[in-house]
Amino acid sequence: MKLQEYQAKELLAKHGVIVPAGGIADTPEEVKRIATELGGKVVVKAQVLMGGRGKAGGIGLFDNAESAAEFSKNLFGKRLISIQNPDGLIVEKLLVVEKINIDKEFYLAILLDRAAQSNIVMISAKGGMDIEEVAINDPDAIVNLPINPKWGLCDFEIREALKKAKIDPIAHSQMITMIKLLTKAYEDADANLIEINPCALTTDGKLVAADAKVTIDPNALYRHPEIQQTPEASAENAIEAEASNRGIAYVHLGGNVGVIGNGAGLVMLTIDEIARAGQRAANFLDVGGGAQAERVKSCVELVMMNTNVKALLINIFGGITRGDEVASGIVSALKELKLNIPIVVRIEGTNAEKAREILANAGLIPVETVQEAAATASNLIMTS
Ligand code: GDP
Ligand code: MN
Repeated sequence: MKLQEYQAKELLAKHGVIVPAGGIADTPEEVKRIATELGGKVVVKAQVLMGGRGKAGGIGLFDNAESAAEFSKNLFGKRLISIQNPDGLIVEKLLVVEKINIDKEFYLAILLDRAAQSNIVMISAKGGMDIEEVAINDPDAIVNLPINPKWGLCDFEIREALKKAKIDPIAHSQMITMIKLLTKAYEDADANLIEINPCALTTDGKLVAADAKVTIDPNALYRHPEIQQTPEASAENAIEAEASNRGIAYVHLGGNVGVIGNGAGLVMLTIDEIARAGQRAANFLDVGGGAQAERVKSCVELVMMNTNVKALLINIFGGITRGDEVASGIVSALKELKLNIPIVVRIEGTNAEKAREILANAGLIPVETVQEAAATASNLIMTS
């Protein structure tokens, strides 16, 4: 689960990391009030879960509360689009923070490196809004420091990494402190990513976390009741938020074939087969056990909220559930929804043949195997 910047900063501040003072606002009036309290020189920051807000117009720097409030009027309710999130996200909350005078921008992150089988610290002197380009064009400018799972980090190895990353020596001791605090926060919060970009050195020599991204391992959330999980706020995609409200496991993927299946493994297999057939799945959706009509209907509604969906593939392995019951459920759910895209259905298990008959009679396209389903759906898209 990704935290909003303001939540991430609260978490870091609790662990002693220096973050700019500020407050969270829902209205331009609140922006003005907070900005006034902070003395007028502020940065207004859209609280949406995506990177590149600066480039997308979601960050504004101001010298007085009035212009901050004016800027916020246009930002509230606006859909912010970035390279990382072409669908965009609506801005509902703004973080208003004191404007700091930045001399240098560094990059600092702690994350799980699966290839290295450990957590690592990533350090770069080339922080700021172009870190993605640095990673591509100048990868040596980013230094990775593995965190030993037994004894953690020693000061000397952090110092060596800072030298290797060509971090200004003025910042070294503060950076060592910050890295150790971040490591502690990372472990305590069961995070799998903490990213500080920019980690800013101010003109008066203070090292400040000017931006913060934190992702918490969703499987550990039960250990952190203090990190409240608000689906609307934590979803990166509106349909994912709605899915979370409905208690449906849905992940937005970006292709054109809508997918509904039962069992995460079967759904992932379906997604792979769609790719093999030359198309991309629009989503992951695990309908769960049973596949009752109401549940199926709710899932289809969800998948169809994505206007990119050009064909729907339903893949149900019945097992001991009777296939004909599942088929009837699907048919009655679809009757109410009246979709005008091709719907390919594969049902396997008890009474599968009877199931296919029911589907065919209802104008759906029954198939026998996952491969056939994927190929059929993909061909329908390519010829449509
Ligand atoms: P992102 O684009 O979503 O990563 O948003 P950031 O919070 O990183 O802000 C983008 C950029 O705005 C930063 O790289 C800074 O250059 C600038 N910025 C953010 N806060 C401040 C601030 O307090 N003072 C100054 N001078 N610049 C800031
Ligand atoms: Mn940033």
